[in-house]
Amino acid sequence: MAKKTIFEDCDVLVVGGGMAGTGAAFEARHWGRDLKIICAEKANIDRSGAVAQGLYAINCYMGMQWGENQPEDHVRYARNDLMGLVREDLGYDMARHVDSTVHMFDEWGLPMMRNKETGRYQREGKWQIMIHGESYKPIVAEAARKSADKIYNRIMITHLLMDETKENRVGGAVGFNMRTGDYYVFRAKTVIVAAGGASHIFKPRAVGEGMGRTWYAPWSNGSAYALPIAVGAKMTQMENRIVLCRFKDGYGPVGAYFLHLKTYTQNANGENYEKKWYDKTKELVGEYIDHHPTPTCLRNHAFIQETMAGGGPIYMVTKEAFQDPHLETVGWENFLGMTVGQAVVWASQNIDPKYTNPELTTSEPYVMGSHATCSGAWVSGPEDIAPPEYFWGYNRMTTVEGLFGAGDTVGGSAHKFSSGSFTEGRLAAKAAVKYIEEEKAKDINVSDKQCEEFKEIIFKPLENYTVGRNEITGGTVSPSYILPIQGLQRLQKIMDEYVGGISYNYMTNENTLKRGLELLEWLQEDLENVGAEDYHQLMRAWELKHRTLTSQCVTEHTLFRQETRWPGYYYRGDYMKLDDENWHCLTLSRRDPKTGKFTMEKAPVYHIVNEKEKKEAS
Ligand SMILES: Cc1cc2nc3c(=O)[nH]c(=O)nc-3n(C[C@H](O)[C@H](O)[C@H](O)COP(=O)(O)OP(=O)(O)OC[C@H]3O[C@@H](n4cnc5c(N)ncnc54)[C@H](O)[C@@H]3O)c2cc1C
Repeated sequence: MAKKTIFEDCDVLVVGGGMAGTGAAFEARHWGRDLKIICAEKANIDRSGAVAQGLYAINCYMGMQWGENQPEDHVRYARNDLMGLVREDLGYDMARHVDSTVHMFDEWGLPMMRNKETGRYQREGKWQIMIHGESYKPIVAEAARKSADKIYNRIMITHLLMDETKENRVGGAVGFNMRTGDYYVFRAKTVIVAAGGASHIFKPRAVGEGMGRTWYAPWSNGSAYALPIAVGAKMTQMENRIVLCRFKDGYGPVGAYFLHLKTYTQNANGENYEKKWYDKTKELVGEYIDHHPTPTCLRNHAFIQETMAGGGPIYMVTKEAFQDPHLETVGWENFLGMTVGQAVVWASQNIDPKYTNPELTTSEPYVMGSHATCSGAWVSGPEDIAPPEYFWGYNRMTTVEGLFGAGDTVGGSAHKFSSGSFTEGRLAAKAAVKYIEEEKAKDINVSDKQCEEFKEIIFKPLENYTVGRNEITGGTVSPSYILPIQGLQRLQKIMDEYVGGISYNYMTNENTLKRGLELLEWLQEDLENVGAEDYHQLMRAWELKHRTLTSQCVTEHTLFRQETRWPGYYYRGDYMKLDDENWHCLTLSRRDPKTGKFTMEKAPVYHIVNEKEKKEAS
């Protein structure tokens, strides 16, 4: 069904041209002057990825030039927020390089806000600096375009190719152009997966007419996880999904409101509900509740408990801050820069935050590795600081040789955000070039047979539709296929009801998880019969398949970790307490590509960076 096949051989293939992908393309050229660098992107890199609309703040900047923060401080911060479990080597490595990335953004023309008195970048919070972010993505896209030999827009990568000479070594990737229907084969010496996180695997709060209105980018479909999972790469912390507290219905960001406008939350009776839940939360997580700042999940926990106890709605108190005309302007501009939809929702609901405190909500769960959460691929750390168990030759290389990750793809290293993801793309690209230079990518063989087999698999949903449409019984219903939207809703229902979604107040347990796994397996079987009526629906079909594989991995991880490490993100009803004795560790999974079965194991957490007190005392 493919129109024609296009072959492209290259040295470095970057999958996804978002923040991490553009960083990777840029840095690959710096180190690999003569190498052939290709980027394949599902959308168009000028506006693709989670930052597509622009951002109002760069959320990760140390400010080392002014002595504001050091990389060690950031490691402590991320460790604290993630309830002790992060890959400190990866976090430190990102943090020590992130300032240089931001300085380049500045040089490239990104409008940075400056503090008029100090001349420094305007801080929104300890880690965040404020920008006029509308041009953010086009600026980094330009850097990638000028660096790569070619950027292919509108290509969805569906599978990784594997080398047939050496086991467990990558050989490229394949996909299709969703506008032309052409089949693309990229044979590559190294592949850097930078395909963003996963939304819409759990049932969203906004369904029907509002579907697509989510906090996380609706087009982030988990390819970053499905691609490595499918070839047997190890994954880590996939249970660590994220739930966001945001303005209700529009999911407008709250960061600038809390940090810059100094707004605060209260329940329907005007009470500080977080205090009310202190003792009960302490019973579950012990001293973690006393950490400062309070870990994100625990703040969610108080919100969820208060709402379940009938104390809602929960409001953001904006009426005070908005009396100051400057803060009022900042509040509105914050949405103009990135979430115009929130302003529209408020207008439609007759909310002027100067006179009415807007409601907040907790979102459905998402899976991503660059925000306040840690899901993703298990990668090698940097050679100078990674402990032996975390190091296997090349920084940010997954457990599949020649396959690298960056941004949301990489697990264990939270709080990278846009700047940290770009930085991680740079780190991965530098290592990928080294991998090629050290002749680790020699004699890769990807046969025509392998490419032909994938071609048949990729375009099968078109054939399913063409054949099955003759049997349509009513409307769009055919006994022979399911449509991508039907499969998506079935997936979301399973994840919601069995793996800790909104309908069950994020609650799950061993029995429901096991049932969820059964249902996911049957969904996988049925996805062999997904039908696509055009190339756009073919993309939807493959997005669904990637979401489903990601979901299986999330469920396996959630089953494996027998504790509730992050109350407020999800609850294991059968193990409601945090259990440091048995679970102060990272979880790892590997799916056997031949059998489709997952195996799970624990990996140690190394605390490389001391607690501040100890460091100061020494
Ligand atoms: C709502 C929201 C608000 C945020 N606010 C801030 C903020 O204020 N400040 C900040 O610093 N950070 C913010 N972030 C975080 C930041 O956007 C992410 O950390 C960053 O974009 C992650 O980079 P990435 O490259 O991993 O993913 P992305 O930037 O999302 O890029 C992934 C790319 O891969 C492409 N892709 C996906 N699948 C495929 C496939 N199969 N084939 C080919 N291409 C594919 C996508 O189209 C996309 O271009 C925010 C994120 C969200 C969701």
